[in-house]
Amino acid sequence: MNALVSTWMDDDLSMFRDSVARFVEAEMVPRDAEWRKQQHVGKEIWRKAGDMGFLCTDVAAEYGGVGGDFRHEVVVYEETSRRGISGFGQGVHSICAHYLLNHGTEEQKRRLLPRMASGELIGAIGMSEPGAGSDLQGLKTRAERDGDSYVINGSKIFISNGFLAGLIALVVKTQPGAGAKGTSIIMVETEGLEGYRVGRVLDKMGMKAQDTSELFFEDVRVPAANLLGEVEGQGFYQLMRDLPYERALIAVCGVAAMEGAVAATVAYVKERKAFGRSIAEFQNTKFKLAELATKTRIARVFVDDCIARVVAGTLDTVTASMAKYWVSDTQQEVIDECVQLHGGYGYMNEYLVCRMFADARVQRIYGGTNEIMKEVISRAL
Ligand SMILES: Cc1cc2nc3c(=O)[nH]c(=O)nc-3n(C[C@H](O)[C@H](O)[C@H](O)COP(=O)(O)OP(=O)(O)OC[C@H]3O[C@@H](n4cnc5c(N)ncnc54)[C@H](O)[C@@H]3O)c2cc1C
Repeated sequence: MNALVSTWMDDDLSMFRDSVARFVEAEMVPRDAEWRKQQHVGKEIWRKAGDMGFLCTDVAAEYGGVGGDFRHEVVVYEETSRRGISGFGQGVHSICAHYLLNHGTEEQKRRLLPRMASGELIGAIGMSEPGAGSDLQGLKTRAERDGDSYVINGSKIFISNGFLAGLIALVVKTQPGAGAKGTSIIMVETEGLEGYRVGRVLDKMGMKAQDTSELFFEDVRVPAANLLGEVEGQGFYQLMRDLPYERALIAVCGVAAMEGAVAATVAYVKERKAFGRSIAEFQNTKFKLAELATKTRIARVFVDDCIARVVAGTLDTVTASMAKYWVSDTQQEVIDECVQLHGGYGYMNEYLVCRMFADARVQRIYGGTNEIMKEVISRAL
């Protein structure tokens, strides 16, 4: 397929893309099978990515970041997602960094962001609980002020990067019964933290190398200086403010996975023979590939528009929700057909499209389910 060069790309980004692609090929692809077995990517790769300048790429240099913009982040998501590298949770790391960047005090930013950019602190977002996912008003994890500390009790579930995380943007109730106004975010540094425990790394359908975990807090004491923005009750506002960025990021990963899957499938059908010819020659194969390439192109054009809007600061929550829902649904359709065109090999984990198929399913669930996306979109009509 003719590669569509996104309008937001330029020469500097092309060079950046080349070095990210080389890094992903050399440092991640060969380790992915081992990471999937052990259910996490380990801390070393985070340090290496930090050393290369591939973390917090859109965070200003004064806070230790690379000083680029969202396009640099996109390049890293694309080069990993195209190759099915789903264990390295750069997305949630960046979302966590953006909470600090957009809502943190100057002191919080200077203290924590450089350590996130170097890969020393791996970031996570602790929102979901066993009893509250879509309905965040139902959160129970409690943080009570006690002198210069908050004392935290509760538990979280499905936390990406949970096993490796050194810093969790933890969504807590600071004033139960006060609705949205009773919610705050506390930046919890986990190292040596008494009363903090990581439960199981969860056994998932896909994203096997991602250390999605349960987290437990029992009388955990965190300095009050780690309350994000140092004003209580801002949690919901802070979460809502950053939604377009998070949803765009999911859509970016989705379209990049589609592009990778379609490319792998085109190569496969040209090699594979049946009934004396390559399966690429069957009309069904040609038409299916034409459909997949078209759907992927439509997704790319929409996502590119979202990327440009994130860079310009104009991406609204409704458009971002459309992109998250439509791209993740289409991602699953497209990769399902790619599996079909691979026949039995498409069901084998050693094939990229197999791993991508299992990885894709959750894209429709996390980051707000696609039903919640439709709620958001319909309210604006
Ligand atoms: C692999 C993975 C990684 C994740 N990573 C993180 C993370 O890093 N941090 C974090 O905090 N969370 C994370 N999550 C949690 C994820 O965001 C939630 O699972 C998701 O928001 C849905 O919440 P729930 O599981 O409680 O489902 P529920 O809210 O119980 O939803 C169940 C079903 O009901 C539907 N539903 C709910 N409300 C409505 C409504 N109003 N209208 C119509 N339908 C509705 C849903 O769409 C869904 O189909 C992750 C989950 C997974 C599986």
